[in-house]
Amino acid sequence: MIGGGQLARMTHQAAIALGQTLRVLATAPDESAAQVTSDVVIGSHTDLDALRRAADGAAVLTFDHEHVPTEHLEKLVAEGVAVAPPPAALVHAQDKLLMRTKLQAIGAPVPRFAAIGSVADIEEFVRQIGGPVVIKTVRGGYDGKGVMMADDVAQARGIVERYLADGVALLAEERVEMRRELAALVARSPFGQGAAWPVVETVQRDGICVEAYAPAPGLSEELRVEAQQLGLRLAAELGVVGVLAVELFETVDGMLLVNELAMRPHNSGHWTMNGSVTSQFEQHLRAVLDYPLGDTAAIASAVAMANVLGAPETPQMSMDERLHHLFARIPDAKVHLYGKGERPGRKLGHVNVLGSDMDEVRERAVRAAHWLSHGVWTDGWDPHR
Ligand code: ADP
Repeated sequence: MIGGGQLARMTHQAAIALGQTLRVLATAPDESAAQVTSDVVIGSHTDLDALRRAADGAAVLTFDHEHVPTEHLEKLVAEGVAVAPPPAALVHAQDKLLMRTKLQAIGAPVPRFAAIGSVADIEEFVRQIGGPVVIKTVRGGYDGKGVMMADDVAQARGIVERYLADGVALLAEERVEMRRELAALVARSPFGQGAAWPVVETVQRDGICVEAYAPAPGLSEELRVEAQQLGLRLAAELGVVGVLAVELFETVDGMLLVNELAMRPHNSGHWTMNGSVTSQFEQHLRAVLDYPLGDTAAIASAVAMANVLGAPETPQMSMDERLHHLFARIPDAKVHLYGKGERPGRKLGHVNVLGSDMDEVRERAVRAAHWLSHGVWTDGWDPHR
């Protein structure tokens, strides 16, 4: 697996149960996955020799980190390495302009967009849209990095001038008026089998997914089926092998638009570790190894996932002690920590809570995650009283 972050760490957990060994390419021995994997190659995902060392003798090469240069992957494929998802599919998760163009060509719903190569381009686009726009870097974005909101043409011009001066390729999109964000998570195997999990609602803050609710509360049957079918269709048409996350906008008038694609386990699928018969990490392995896919049914009628993000000020109390108190108060909270140092806004872990009432599980998951982040109970609970 290329990349040694939390996704590789949790994939490793699933690999153990399947009797597989996961080698990771990590940039440092203290990365999330490198801490727990015995087979670690240290190197960069942009270094062809490091990629070769990671792939040597492996049944299949897959990704935690998506931004691996296509030309390197094509070389590996030519050298006989099984790359999953294949580079021709993965490029749609790397290049937002190519993704938008391809999706439009196959009739998938996307926001209105345009490639921006000059100030004149953005002026023309803002004029066409007649409202706020979003300017994005074509490549390299994640967790909201490389996504800029512009309310008017003056702001848009300023952003475009700055980025183009640095030689960064851009696209612009209409700013979608949305009810909320959803994610359709599916998997596809080389054999061509597909499987879709329940559609989830995701909550983003500052471009970072902070919560996910499965199934998306109040989602109509019609939109649920549309989202799942869209996910499966995109996986098949793009030739994805592994997990595909389709990030969606549910617009204020009840339509779906595709925002982003990720071709790997995804934050919107962390709930599956405890809430589904098959976790996204196991499913990703099954798919890339071309096993039959696992059952994607939820095992509770309401599952909430909340991310543990580094607090603005790291609490005095150690994470270990916070965990201790959490378990004393919420014994059924399922905690997944990534072994990372605490820094403001950094994804340190997540908490899953299962139950039958979404409001209730949501409240407990969010309260638990906030406690782990901040060392403060949002309802004023004092564990020492
Ligand atoms: P990243 O690649 O960093 O995940 P995204 O393209 O997913 O970036 O954008 C991050 C967030 O910005 C989205 O989750 C959404 O909240 C907001 N956003 C992105 N594009 C639009 C859009 N066209 N209209 C409204 N909000 C958007």
